[in-house]
Amino acid sequence: MLSSPLTRITDPERLAALAETGLLDSAPEEAFDRLTRIVVRALGAGASTLTLLDRGRQFFKSSAGPAMPPIRETPLDYSLCQQTAAEGAALTVADTLQDERTRECLAVTRLGVRAYAGVPLVTADGYTLGTLCALDWSPRAWSHEHMETLVDLAAVAVAEIERRRKGALPERAVPELRATDGLVRVMLQQSLAGIFVVQDQRFRYLNPRLAEIFGREAEWMQDRRVWDVIHPADREDAEGYARGQVYGPPRATHYTLRGVHAGGSTLSLEIFAARAEVEGKPAAVGLVLDVSERVRAEREREEAVAARDRFYAMASHELRTPVSAMMLYNELLLGDAYGPLRPEQHDAVERAQRCAAELLELINDLLDLSKLEAGKMESRIEEVELVALAERAVAAVEVLAAEQECRVVIEAPERPLVVAGDGKRTRQVLLNLLSNAVKYGDGKPVHVRVLREGAGAVVEVSDSGPGIPEGDRSRIFDDFVRLDDAPGQGTGLGLPIARRLAQLLGGSLEVSSVVGEGSTFRLVLPG
Ligand code: ADP
Repeated sequence: MLSSPLTRITDPERLAALAETGLLDSAPEEAFDRLTRIVVRALGAGASTLTLLDRGRQFFKSSAGPAMPPIRETPLDYSLCQQTAAEGAALTVADTLQDERTRECLAVTRLGVRAYAGVPLVTADGYTLGTLCALDWSPRAWSHEHMETLVDLAAVAVAEIERRRKGALPERAVPELRATDGLVRVMLQQSLAGIFVVQDQRFRYLNPRLAEIFGREAEWMQDRRVWDVIHPADREDAEGYARGQVYGPPRATHYTLRGVHAGGSTLSLEIFAARAEVEGKPAAVGLVLDVSERVRAEREREEAVAARDRFYAMASHELRTPVSAMMLYNELLLGDAYGPLRPEQHDAVERAQRCAAELLELINDLLDLSKLEAGKMESRIEEVELVALAERAVAAVEVLAAEQECRVVIEAPERPLVVAGDGKRTRQVLLNLLSNAVKYGDGKPVHVRVLREGAGAVVEVSDSGPGIPEGDRSRIFDDFVRLDDAPGQGTGLGLPIARRLAQLLGGSLEVSSVVGEGSTFRLVLPG
């Protein structure tokens, strides 16, 4: 049985000493690689590793040998070295399957390691940080001479590691940050944003909010690897950002990453970070905002809108054909194609035809809306002469205007007035504004003004109707909104479609109104 060395491995002071070396997750270095190569050669081993024992894993600062798999770390279940660390002395196992200390280790059962010799790496102040070891894939003996070589090389490794520790960030940096007094301290403690200092890919400082965002105790996060709280799918990105912060040109960066909450849920985090120097070594300082709620709400909204648009598109296509057919049969009936109709029959079919026309208008509006929402409405760029276009639009609402006994007047100081745009879409917007002005304008005159503005143009449609109360002026551009007292029929989609079309054309549509005096809709078009 493996004795349980875990208490020693998780000893916080030992872990702090290990973190001070800055060696965890660092790139391979010749100073250490030379040692493992010598072990392989001198002991004739299949592999050699310089192993650092971290919380829950062993990290190979260096490895060499023909049989060594290309990995840089394994979980502790695979670690024969933790046994060496637990014993605190050199360990040799000639046949791992015959030795009860090693035969259940996953390195033996899964990776097939059959022989092991390891020497602990113990610092001057007594911390066992890891081991230097030799491995083989068939049972073998380790000679006294082999072990002497291993002990000597381990001493060289420890000297190198100690050198790193002296040059590394001393632990004092953190208490120093913690001891910050006065206003700054209050800001750090009370901040609604998470605040961090990261060095050597570990949290050197964090404020209470940061721990709270991850649902952790501050102690748990202190000195922990940043990757432990980053979503696995984003770790590569995070690594890139971190590298950029520490080694790239000094500038502030803003990015989003997914984090992992203690409860297992995924967090959406917005991060603002900048390069800093702490104790003479590069570090990153920054802010973390938890935007999970906002991102979730946005995603839900996007999904709902997409579902709605799919429904509109499907329903409109499916409905348009039968409604068109219905209207055709009504037309035939009204034209006496099936024999003459009695006056009351004629009246009934006419009413049915009006209802079908309204239905078709709604279906067409829904189709337009879904196309606009899905970004599938295309616009052409052609030369558009706006005065003639306005005149044609006015002619198209003539019947409606006559019904309301309403006069429509065009004012165009400059003609022709040409812009680059999409005539069909511009006409669609104007028709909507004109029919609204006629419908809701109390039969009073409607004015259409076509003016040049900069390189573009403006078309204004004004009525002298009841006007639109201020509180309703932005609402009327929302889908399906009709004001309570709106007379006649309507879908409540005309203005929202008109505004989206104006935006599609690169322009805008706004309203101004004085209650009791009238409303002016202003379509601005680019040149
Ligand atoms: P619809 O005309 O089909 O109802 P719109 O989207 O074109 O839909 O207009 C939305 C609502 O805005 C109308 O129902 C009406 O209440 C109000 N509205 C639009 N234009 C005017 C106007 N010129 N004067 C007063 N109210 C208007």
